Amino acid sequence: MTLLDGKVAVVTGAGQGIGAEIARELVAHGAQVVIADLDGDAAHSVAEELSGTGVACDVTSEEAMHALVADTVRAHGHLDLFVNNAGTTRDASLKKMSVADFDAVVTVHLRGTWLGVREASAVMREQKSGSIVNISSLSGKSGNPGQTNYSAAKAGIVGLTKAAAKEVAHHNVRINAVQPGLIRTPMTAAMPPEVFAEREAAVPMKRAGEPKEVAGAVVFLASELSSYITGTVLEVGGGRYM
Ligand code: NAP
Repeated sequence: MTLLDGKVAVVTGAGQGIGAEIARELVAHGAQVVIADLDGDAAHSVAEELSGTGVACDVTSEEAMHALVADTVRAHGHLDLFVNNAGTTRDASLKKMSVADFDAVVTVHLRGTWLGVREASAVMREQKSGSIVNISSLSGKSGNPGQTNYSAAKAGIVGLTKAAAKEVAHHNVRINAVQPGLIRTPMTAAMPPEVFAEREAAVPMKRAGEPKEVAGAVVFLASELSSYITGTVLEVGGGRYM
């Protein structure tokens, strides 16, 4: 018997990076996984590798998020875990950031996570069971220069997680957040190498994290190992900002 035997999970933004690794770890622990991503080809390719289902889904679309949850329940009969992982960055100083850059980032992270929480919790509260994990960031705790949009959105995910967790706790639905630090993915590969090196040097463990190390925290929050844990924020940052 593995940790997630018989569980059905959805991971957004799972076509690459942390989301794809979360999907891999969930499958390794026995779950069936629906891989959703803006890029349908990327979602299908990860799904093929994991014998899961790949879906093109824009998390900012109310219709698409409703369909993602409804189709999963239609196909599998239940929904046990929903991971709001999709994310994007449009870094710029306050002097240079446009309203469009601010809105785009806040919309993907905050509206996307809120839609995922609303749709998934509606099913889970009827089932009287389920776990939702929202991927925030240590940037939302510490604030990163050049990321006023991203830091605001990631801090917002913490408030949303706690408010929603209080609303559905008595239905046996748990909602938690994970705050990764500096993790090696296509998102951070886009950073200037000197900025990456400077951030890595500031990590007490003296290295960036791997996507698998974030996925391990998600597996814990998804499973019965965390059955009495809700509304919390689990930091996966090698000791950064403790
Ligand atoms: P990534 O490699 O850029 O992957 C993010 C995925 O989300 C991409 O496949 C992207 O698709 C997808 N996505 C973007 N907008 C979407 C939308 N509207 N609907 C559906 N999917 C969308 O980034 P990552 O590093 O794995 O990050 C995953 C999560 O962890 C994000 O929430 C990020 O903010 C968070 N995080 C990352 C780090 C880090 O150091 N890497 C640290 C803290 C938190 P496209 O490629 O097609 O746009």
